[in-house]
Amino acid sequence: VSAGQALTDNQEASERKHFVLVPLMAQGHTIPMTDMARLLAEHGAQVSFITTPVNATRMAGFINHAQATGLTIQFVKLNFPAVEFGLPNGCENADMIQSRDLYKNFMEACAALREPLTAYLRQQHPSPSCIISDMSHWWTADIAREFGIPRLTFNGFCTFASLVRYIIARDNLLEHVEDENELINFPGFPTPLQLTKEKCPGSLSVYGLEQIRKNIYEEEMRSSGVVINSFQELETLYIESFEHITGKKVWTVGPMCLCNQDINAMAARGNKASMDEAQCLRWLDSMKPGSVTFVSFGSLACTAPRQLVELGLGLEASKKPFVWVIKAGDKFPQVEEWLAEGFEERVKDRGLIIRGWAPQVLILWHKAIGGFMTHCGWNSTIEGICAGIPMITWPHFAEQFVNERLVVDVLKTGVEIGVKAVTQWGQEQTEVTVTRDAVEKAVSKLMDGGEAAEEMRTRAKEFGVKARKALEEGGSSYNNINILIQEMGNQANASG
Ligand code: UDP
Repeated sequence: VSAGQALTDNQEASERKHFVLVPLMAQGHTIPMTDMARLLAEHGAQVSFITTPVNATRMAGFINHAQATGLTIQFVKLNFPAVEFGLPNGCENADMIQSRDLYKNFMEACAALREPLTAYLRQQHPSPSCIISDMSHWWTADIAREFGIPRLTFNGFCTFASLVRYIIARDNLLEHVEDENELINFPGFPTPLQLTKEKCPGSLSVYGLEQIRKNIYEEEMRSSGVVINSFQELETLYIESFEHITGKKVWTVGPMCLCNQDINAMAARGNKASMDEAQCLRWLDSMKPGSVTFVSFGSLACTAPRQLVELGLGLEASKKPFVWVIKAGDKFPQVEEWLAEGFEERVKDRGLIIRGWAPQVLILWHKAIGGFMTHCGWNSTIEGICAGIPMITWPHFAEQFVNERLVVDVLKTGVEIGVKAVTQWGQEQTEVTVTRDAVEKAVSKLMDGGEAAEEMRTRAKEFGVKARKALEEGGSSYNNINILIQEMGNQANASG
């Protein structure tokens, strides 16, 4: 590279918009922000991706891939004060927190990153144009004010669930609900929706979180808008309603997972996979197109071991091929606790069991997959939408029950397994709440080619096509990313 060339590059670099991304360190929040970093960089922005040493090690696959492909992403590792805040050394991710009561400590340790992050940003050229931070990191709003730049929030929800969450917070809807069977209505929500308290986002009461929740809500109200991992064509009505009710601009920039187009990028998402990708692909290649159900409940859900036994027996009874991701082995080393005796041997010709972390999008987007049994975390849901396949919904907690309603009632691309009770995060469930019969019925209904299932399949395919169009050149999300980069950091947009 000649000196002249280097100078041009430097000039270009100094003119680039500089986006600072501060994810919540939980896989369901961090993974979409790694996708966001990639998209912003591909559209010409400079990105600082804020992380911590343990998390940086965990996403080494992504970091290496981003560096190898020359993306303008700087990974900033700030030391995480776990011990200072009463957490075990190295406890730097939500999935490492041993007890729910320590979540407050975790959030406080996150807030202590304010000073080191500010110090880092003061030294940066180009100076930051915009902060996109997880909604939970309310303290990043102070930093944005110091630099006179906008702060946008992100929390990994779709717009449908974001609107529900907003109405609950605004009206304090859950506070006085005593009756666990009472159906709650959501004033201003544009389509019919009723949920019991337990199934609402934010129903989990965690010790000492009230003040933090208040800060989060207040700073959300002062933010310059919200970035959502969805696309205009999927949620038009809810995007309009959200903007109307909250007065906040919605930037739909998804499905962000679609930025992972090559196999290496897909395989590098999140943790290191516990099964060799090539082995996985070989197995899928040997199956008929559209014949396999992919079963996975995300990164945090703790399905009771007895429930897993029952689920397995249901899959066996369905006589259909499946890939099943099970994480119970981390907590329950005895496989007999979570798989029925002889199960693996009996299903060995048509069942692939992945113990631990799976290369999810690589599997989901394989032509052999024809259905997705999901816990309805939004990332998984939108990844399923991109795959163009119908779903079997098995929500566990958080906003997953709301996402279920979007999939089943609005998009009409899924069947419910029929979950009655919530399996709260960090609250081990021992009961079997979904029987093997229910599993067998749902799998058969979706995979047997009946008329209703075929209608769902057609609709799912159509959404898959629309999802891909949204991120292609000229698509709604593609354009939104460009406009976002153009608009952010122009002085007129700096807020409060
Ligand atoms: N994921 C994965 N492999 C796994 C489990 C999860 O790649 O074994 C990814 C999945 O593709 C998704 C994210 O982790 O991108 C999980 O996010 P989601 O919102 O679906 O659920 P959460 O883990 O937050 O409950």
